[in-house]
Amino acid sequence: MLLGAPGSGKGTQAEMITRHFGIPVTSPGAILRREKDLGTPLGIETAEITQRGDLVPDKIIVELIEDWLRLHGSHGFVFDGFPRTLPQAESLLSILTRLRTALDLAIWLEVSEETVRARISGRLQCRSCGFTTSVTSAKFAERSVCPYCDGPLVRRNDDDVSVLQTRLREFATKTQPLADFYGKMSILRRIDGNRDRETVFAEISRLIEDKVPA
Ligand code: ADP
Repeated sequence: MLLGAPGSGKGTQAEMITRHFGIPVTSPGAILRREKDLGTPLGIETAEITQRGDLVPDKIIVELIEDWLRLHGSHGFVFDGFPRTLPQAESLLSILTRLRTALDLAIWLEVSEETVRARISGRLQCRSCGFTTSVTSAKFAERSVCPYCDGPLVRRNDDDVSVLQTRLREFATKTQPLADFYGKMSILRRIDGNRDRETVFAEISRLIEDKVPA
């Protein structure tokens, strides 16, 4: 699982892990954005919460993850942005016990507040496939379309400076305690997420290769 502040690079690294190792990834944030775009009851119910930068109730998130794990989790899985609270982490442990599987790694992407602000203020995301890039990336500046699926590149509506403040506060109060939780289970690995995506990915790959049988 990938843990870290907003803008720490969880989504980017999750996508690179899936592409390179073929391990399926799930991201509650991405699922909720998709549900909102589709106008489903779940999307409508949670839109206001995510828009404010608050966390969605644990029960909703845990159900999403449990459903996903039953469908896709039998040959390994990556969580991007889950769990984010201690109750979520505890529920996850009982779900995994029921499904007779376990967690190998909790990768904590450490970033400075400066990095977070710089990345979030310039972030563009594809509305169709979720690919993330930045406004300064010259390759995409001319045509605001996704290089993978031609979908529109847009700013996330929770990437606003005042909303970011709330997301950072939620992270500090509710998610930070998970470092201790996974530290005690001896599966926590901290990585410097301020570096470029390839350097970070090389380090994550080494951790995964140590766990995955060749
Ligand atoms: P980021 O990591 O950049 O904040 P995400 O896409 O992971 O972005 O999450 C976007 C929003 O979705 C969060 O601010 C929160 O409202 C909601 N969300 C995502 N994951 C969770 C979770 N595990 N628990 C509660 N809310 C969540």
